[in-house]
Amino acid sequence: MATNVFFAAGAKLWPEYREAIQAACAKKGLSISLSDAAPDPAAVDYIVYAPTAALSDFTPFTRCKAVLSLWAGVERIAPNPTLTQPLCRMVDSGLTEGMVEWVTGHVLRHHLGMDAHITGQDGIWRHDSKPPLARDRRVTILGLGELGTACAKALSALNFPVTGWSRTQKHIDGIACLSGDEGLEEALARADILVTLLPRTTATENLMSAERFALMPRGSFLINPGRGQLIDDDALLAALGSGRIAHATLDVFRVEPLPPDHPFWAHPGVTVTPHLAADTRTATAAEVIVENIRRGETGEPLLYLVNRDLGY
Ligand code: NDP
Repeated sequence: MATNVFFAAGAKLWPEYREAIQAACAKKGLSISLSDAAPDPAAVDYIVYAPTAALSDFTPFTRCKAVLSLWAGVERIAPNPTLTQPLCRMVDSGLTEGMVEWVTGHVLRHHLGMDAHITGQDGIWRHDSKPPLARDRRVTILGLGELGTACAKALSALNFPVTGWSRTQKHIDGIACLSGDEGLEEALARADILVTLLPRTTATENLMSAERFALMPRGSFLINPGRGQLIDDDALLAALGSGRIAHATLDVFRVEPLPPDHPFWAHPGVTVTPHLAADTRTATAAEVIVENIRRGETGEPLLYLVNRDLGY
């Protein structure tokens, strides 16, 4: 019997993924029947999913062995009560590379104070301070998963003293790993630059509240490529107003696209980027999807299973 794979990730992505998934199957010697339509849901073995598609009722997919997300963040599908099938999130080397580059770039921007020399070309030769060194700038990363760990290692390799914080205790060479409520306080106290790379769950919503911003050093920087809901927007605006936070670089928002009248757009202390920190890369993501289909077919454990109770 054929292995039926239903591509439910939207018409825009279909042409590129059709080719890439077929190429990845050929590489692994796997034969599947791939379609962007599911005339008989009860015959579908795997669903390739992204929230950009209309699919929201998984009940009719009675034979489906796994739903394979093209997105790393699964907060829009994980709470779906009709989803009884295993859910795998996307861990893609191309996406991770992109996130490392974006985070490193924005950390270096703030660390080196690049803006002064990009926007301040006024004919005055100011050479009145020593350039900073990474070893004197502490970076804290909230979230030590696939993306947080990769960013932590890259920044540590540049000599930044890096502290990471996660739900469970980690041990990563060269990174000061903290966990739990006390660990969070310490992690924030060390955050000259804070990078938030947590998933959106009920436990992480509004994690960066007024009280938590108050724990950070005065004049620190926030870089948020995680999810908008991690940040209490009003608390951030107040922290920017008081000088607690010198600048916030935000890639993700509670409402996307960020509405034109949102105060973040006009705030001189905020840089808005349109949710482009890291994108799933078709070729590498297709290999991950196909590897999970292969595993499903041979009875091996699926990669990157989402814990539905935790929401990530
Ligand atoms: P992972 O699931 O690999 O890692 C999540 C990390 O967050 C883990 O270290 C986990 O801890 C930690 N965590 C989760 N809940 C808590 C909590 N309540 N308290 C403390 N730590 C917690 O995710 P990824 O690294 O792959 O991705 C992180 C997020 O990045 C995604 O969920 C998504 O929202 C965002 N993202 C943004 C993109 C963009 O373009 N802006 C692109 C891709 C992803 P533990 O290790 O103990 O489980």
